[in-house]
Amino acid sequence: MRFVSEYRDVRRCRRIASMIRGEAVAPRYKIMEVCGTHTAAIRKFGIREMLPPIITLISGPGCPVCVTSEGYLKNALGLARQKNILLATYHDMLRVPAGGTSLETERSRGALVQGVQSAWEAVELARVRRDKEVVFLAVGFETTAPGTAIAVEMARKDRIRNFSAYVSHKTIPPALAALSKDRDLGIQGFLLPGHVSAIIGLRGYRAVWKDIRLSRTQPCVGDGAGRAGFRPTGGTPKNQGPRALAREAPPAVISGFEPLDILVSVHRLVRAINRKKPILENEYSRVVHPSGNLQAQKVLRRVFERGDGIWRGLGLIRESALVLRKPYRDFDAAVRFGLKKEGLSAEKRKGCRCADVVKGKIDPPACPLFRKVCKPEDPKGPCMVSREGTCRSFYEYS
Ligand code: SF4
Repeated sequence: MRFVSEYRDVRRCRRIASMIRGEAVAPRYKIMEVCGTHTAAIRKFGIREMLPPIITLISGPGCPVCVTSEGYLKNALGLARQKNILLATYHDMLRVPAGGTSLETERSRGALVQGVQSAWEAVELARVRRDKEVVFLAVGFETTAPGTAIAVEMARKDRIRNFSAYVSHKTIPPALAALSKDRDLGIQGFLLPGHVSAIIGLRGYRAVWKDIRLSRTQPCVGDGAGRAGFRPTGGTPKNQGPRALAREAPPAVISGFEPLDILVSVHRLVRAINRKKPILENEYSRVVHPSGNLQAQKVLRRVFERGDGIWRGLGLIRESALVLRKPYRDFDAAVRFGLKKEGLSAEKRKGCRCADVVKGKIDPPACPLFRKVCKPEDPKGPCMVSREGTCRSFYEYS
């Protein structure tokens, strides 16, 4: 099959792996793959095992369900319990545990909760169910946000007043900037997500990459209880020209999802780390245009503006969320139903290490619940629910 089989060619993969071994001369390399689909591919194709042990691939916050805050989930559960509301949500969200329950459990108790494939489907549901307030749970990154934007525009144009969206869309670049500043994590390079990059292009990372300053004295990622966060600094630090600024940003490569894509991207990163070169490159050029998807960007700008976002495991990250612009506030479920702000407090489930997994601090087997009581059929945390979740990938492909 074109664009699949050639990217799974074992001989080519082995050749690139041996090139990586030849290039890997430093004591260690720590590379984060940001996308949950990358994590699954790395596990599925045994890519970690093909690399020398001095190269560590750690999984980052690339699963939308996993980074959604506890506060958001609790508000969603509260909405589901209201008699006049029909909650429409992506299927992954149904099984995420929060406060000792889940949307699926609430549905079994009589709540009106329906799984949908898209935001558009939720608008169509609202057209049919005029007797109910249809609330769409709009979660995800730049990949799903354009769908929400189009749905909200459609509802406004067609005057579908019983539709609203509870929005928790997040943008990846500010989260990467925050992670790159965390001294404890010590990330030296990023495998950038292919899907998100198809929307924002290489261009979408440039502004944030320019603003990254690796402050060695101030950690910038919250601790799950979420205190500090990325604050775009703008400008250039004193006594440093733009070149100096650029040198501080970790190298990053947009990567496809096949084994050859990932290995080629890792090779580029290892070479860049050796040469201390802050590359920002696109390996996935068969899908990702340098400028991204301009139509999708346009609709995002029309409907959303930037706001502060709360991420599970990372806490508050400035300017990392998309919030509905004023003309669309009538379709904002948080306003319509007077929902509480998400807040920073995280539910402490005994033994659960989801926040650390999301942040890339630990691999899932370090969680005491992994495989023993936390399994895909009975998840104790969000990272075991979605196929993009790190714990789920480790469970399925170990
Ligand atoms: Fe959370 Fe389960 Fe993963 Fe532990 S194994 S971190 S409880 S999802």
